[in-house]
Amino acid sequence: MQQRTEDLTGRSFGRLTVLERDRAPRESSGGHAYWRCACDCGNETSVAGCALRDGSTKSCGCLRREMYAAKHGTRYSYDGRGCRCDQCRKWKREQDLRYRARNPEKAKEKSRRWKDAHPEEHLAMTRRNAKKLNDKLRETAERHGREWTGVELEIASRPDLTARQVATVLRRTLSAVRNMRQRLASDLDPRDRMLANGPQPPTSRSGPR
Ligand SMILES: [Zn+2]
Ligand SMILES: [Zn+2]
Repeated sequence: MQQRTEDLTGRSFGRLTVLERDRAPRESSGGHAYWRCACDCGNETSVAGCALRDGSTKSCGCLRREMYAAKHGTRYSYDGRGCRCDQCRKWKREQDLRYRARNPEKAKEKSRRWKDAHPEEHLAMTRRNAKKLNDKLRETAERHGREWTGVELEIASRPDLTARQVATVLRRTLSAVRNMRQRLASDLDPRDRMLANGPQPPTSRSGPR
C-alpha cells in the first residue's frame, strides 16, 4: 500500500535541510521514511518525511526552545535559563508545592539533606522567613496591644495550632502570641495571671470588689 518514497534530499523545511535518507532501524517508525537533516542552528536531527512535509517539524527543537525562552514562568525559563523574575519565582514556588504534595516523604528528606549541607544558608533563610512572616503579621495585627479575651486565650492555648496560625486568626503579632503561650504554659491559670500582672489596670468603672 505504501507509496514510493519521495526523495527529499536537498530540500529545506523551515530551519531544516535534508541531508539524506536515514535508514537506521528504529522501534516505532510507523512505516515512515526518516530523513537526516541539518538544522540552521548547527544541530543534526532525524525527522519523518511526513512531519517535514506537513510542517509540524521545522527545526531540531531549537525553535521550540527559543519560543519557551521568551516565556517566563516555565521550567525552561527557571531551570534552563536561570531566570529569577517574579513570574519565574512564582512558578518555582508552585512547582515545589506540587512536588511536596505528590512526594511528601521525599520532599522532607530532600530538605533535610539540603539543611545539613548548607547550615548557614538554612539559618539565613529561616531568619529571612521569620522576618517576612513577622512583617506580614504586623500589617494585619489590628488587635495588637489590646487585652486578650477569654476566647482568644482559648484559641491561643490550642495545641493543634501553630503560633503563626493563632497570630493570623487573632490578628496579633507572632511575638505577642508566643509571649502569651509562654504565660499560658506556666502553671497559673491564664486569666489569674492576666489579672496578676495584666496590662490593664482596673478602671474606676470596674467598681468595688
Ligand atoms: Zn536547531
Ligand atoms: Zn523569568
